[in-house]
Amino acid sequence: MPRIQVPVLFLFAALHLLILPHCFSQAPKKIKTIVVDAGHGGTKDPGATGQYENSLRSKEKDITLAIALKLVDELKKALPGVNIVPTRTTDIYQDPREKARIANEAKGDLFLCIHADSGPLKTGRRQVGTRTVTRYKVSGKGRKKKRTPYQVVEPVYEYFKLPLQRSGTSVWIFAAHKTSDKLKAIMDGDENFEIEAGGVDSVVNNFDFNTTEGRIIANIYATRYQFRSDLLATMVNDEVRETGRQDLGVSQRQKGIWVLQATNMPAILVETGFINNPEDERYLNSEKGQQELAEAITRAVQRYKEQVESLNNNNGNTRPATSGNGSGGNGAEKTKADPLPDALEKRPVKDVKVLEVKSNKIKVDLFDDGEIDNDIVSVYFNNALVVDKKSITAQAHSFTLSLAPGKTNELVLVAENLGSIPPNTALMIITDGTSRHEVRLSADLKNNALVRFELKNNN
Ligand SMILES: [Zn+2]
Repeated sequence: MPRIQVPVLFLFAALHLLILPHCFSQAPKKIKTIVVDAGHGGTKDPGATGQYENSLRSKEKDITLAIALKLVDELKKALPGVNIVPTRTTDIYQDPREKARIANEAKGDLFLCIHADSGPLKTGRRQVGTRTVTRYKVSGKGRKKKRTPYQVVEPVYEYFKLPLQRSGTSVWIFAAHKTSDKLKAIMDGDENFEIEAGGVDSVVNNFDFNTTEGRIIANIYATRYQFRSDLLATMVNDEVRETGRQDLGVSQRQKGIWVLQATNMPAILVETGFINNPEDERYLNSEKGQQELAEAITRAVQRYKEQVESLNNNNGNTRPATSGNGSGGNGAEKTKADPLPDALEKRPVKDVKVLEVKSNKIKVDLFDDGEIDNDIVSVYFNNALVVDKKSITAQAHSFTLSLAPGKTNELVLVAENLGSIPPNTALMIITDGTSRHEVRLSADLKNNALVRFELKNNN
């Protein structure tokens, strides 16, 4: 009966339209808008200042603005078609809420915060001269007590702030509290808790992290974007290291980065350098340093964009179509003929790490990263099962892999449970000849994690 079929089909189509954007809200097809935030601003919020003796007395707000403006220019050049939105282009004060609002209203796909670090300074002293003071010698007791004056020469000191020893660039992401039960319920699909499907909503503009609801939303944002934020942060750290600058790695904070918590997109904060370290302060104030950092961050964003968009094209799964000739390590032969399990085939890969290795035989030591909470994982290498439902602990589970030269070599981590503290986080120590790499991966029951090995200098 055509009269009924048409509405049913229409309804079916309409339902898809409603459901699809929601399902894919974690995976926008393209990176269209990038928000760049110059940290702090205005007289009300100068940020950190150079305070050691002979410092340039520079202010963080000026450094962040200079680097952010260069970053905006570089991103525009490198990614023509992408909308680059600065939170500020002049020295104005912005409440962090204002910064988050700008990012959310711009519907950013990425939020880059530029800051400069500082640390507590020790006080030093030096002798700048002498002075003569009068002291008294006391003799006798009671009524016979006598005070005899005498002169002493004592040093006069000058006190000053010692410069900070620490230097380098660090990248921060906001990490969700893994232990929140409420959060777990939401992430597992509590449909009563609904926030947006890829856009801004009124809750965002005035949410307060002092409320339970605010904290929950912040956690959702953080969890939703943690994989991507971590991916970008790792790439920024790598690109900074490439410039020859000291890289201090990617760190997670569970508190205290308001703008990272309040933005509905993957977000990172780059502490470009220490304003209280003389070398860093000069670097951060120099045209060369600012430009070098802007270019390094831009290269990372380019790599990130390519990777994220290629993941989308493959429907979120980068697993190669071929099985890699069964060239995996232990256990490869025995399971080669088995059909691939759904957990490997159907779950998208959300956490991707790319590792350059020199040797085609590598050793992997697998640990639980963080609290030991009975995480059970399986590991596949080029689609061959190498770890079958093992509980990971603080004790290494070790295996070796033979990489196939000229092929895509990929290791996939599949969570078989969530442990008591989701997601499943694994630390892999990968030994490649004489070098050692640490790789941290996160997987859960919806998403797998992947390490792609890039074999350099085959031998
Ligand atoms: Zn700052």
